[in-house]
Amino acid sequence: MSEKLSFVNPTPTSPWGTYLQQVDRVMPYLGDLAKWAETLKRPKRALIVDVPIEMDDGRIAHYEGYRVQHNMSRGPGKGGVRFHPDVTLEEVMALSAWMTVKTAAVNLPYGGAKGGIRVDPKKLSLKELEKVTRRYTSEIGIIIGPHTDIPAPDVNTNGQIMAWMMDTYSMNTGGTATGVVTGKPLHLGGSLGRVKATGRGVFVTGREAARRLGLDLRGARIAVQGFGNVGSVAAELFVEAGAKIVAVQDHTGTIVNEKGLDLAELIPVSRTPAGAVSFKGGDVVPNEAFWDVPCDILIPAALEGQITAARAKKTTAKLVLEGANGPTVPEADDILAERGVLVVPDVICNAGGVTVSYFEWVQDFSSFFWDEDEINVRLDRIMMNALNQIWDTADKHKISLRTATYAVACERILMARQERGLYP
Ligand code: GLU
Repeated sequence: MSEKLSFVNPTPTSPWGTYLQQVDRVMPYLGDLAKWAETLKRPKRALIVDVPIEMDDGRIAHYEGYRVQHNMSRGPGKGGVRFHPDVTLEEVMALSAWMTVKTAAVNLPYGGAKGGIRVDPKKLSLKELEKVTRRYTSEIGIIIGPHTDIPAPDVNTNGQIMAWMMDTYSMNTGGTATGVVTGKPLHLGGSLGRVKATGRGVFVTGREAARRLGLDLRGARIAVQGFGNVGSVAAELFVEAGAKIVAVQDHTGTIVNEKGLDLAELIPVSRTPAGAVSFKGGDVVPNEAFWDVPCDILIPAALEGQITAARAKKTTAKLVLEGANGPTVPEADDILAERGVLVVPDVICNAGGVTVSYFEWVQDFSSFFWDEDEINVRLDRIMMNALNQIWDTADKHKISLRTATYAVACERILMARQERGLYP
């Protein structure tokens, strides 16, 4: 009944192509709601903006920015903003769709959205970064807002960038709208626990998955790809639980130590421009060798499409925890399933970030702030309840955790769609 979208050209391994296949796989489990499922295969709204700024040397540079609102059936759009030189509209569309599924999977009253700028922030001065952020915010200001669409940090964005976004939106609207973005600094309406929330959620879901597999975390070997806010925090929590981190890959390269990398020393080094490979407590190996390092748990916490068919065939991991969004292509998903490797999918595994974003937003509106224990107790409870429900669905239909998460989430999204009805 519906034409294919004209403005993207998905492939079987591209982010939007991956997402479309994930939706196709849940169709048999949607019952009568399948009638509404086409709505999941197209974004509600996609905005492309020009972001011109004057550079420090006087040149004028133009960057391409996006904000995609994939679905708002259950509530305002929600999702991060990514600064990366390879960002495309198609990628942001997929990321926004994964937010729709994620917020529904943990039952937050949100839809899904995502934004991005095609820029390498490492090549900008602080002033240029601020200008890019502010002009982008102003351009997407026509569709974001505390009750319509709430951005947050993602790859290469942080609390300072959220502060500039909040300020720019507030300047343009004449008030102080703390609820327009989440992941803000603490004294600007940020929430305790937000910075570590995504990594914590990866740990909480991973610990439960390991328990169900009978995999003892004490002595478990873990390989982590991506050592930012998600990978490094999850790594620390697993080490506290007795595991060891045997391999870390970041944008500078790959470092391994089969006895376990010393995180107290590695983390500060990895935050410097020289990155993880400048750490002396391990051996630097070629990037492709990361996938051969013997491990029990693999945590992809970088970008999409990293677990390819070839890499899925060779990993020794028994458990994959998707800290990143969209790290596993569908063919690799099948290979992992055939090989008996359990995958905790992104749309539940990394949902801790948006869950504490939700807490932040609620606190901003009530102007009453919770202590960190309360945040973490509520986060753990939401993650565990969601995971248990997904696990029951997976057992009932004998399907993967990914398809089960989509089944739980898509039922909520499409039920809302059906109950709201079509306008006009
Ligand atoms: N960027 C994070 C994600 O992919 C968090 C989004 C949010 O907090 O809105 O889930």
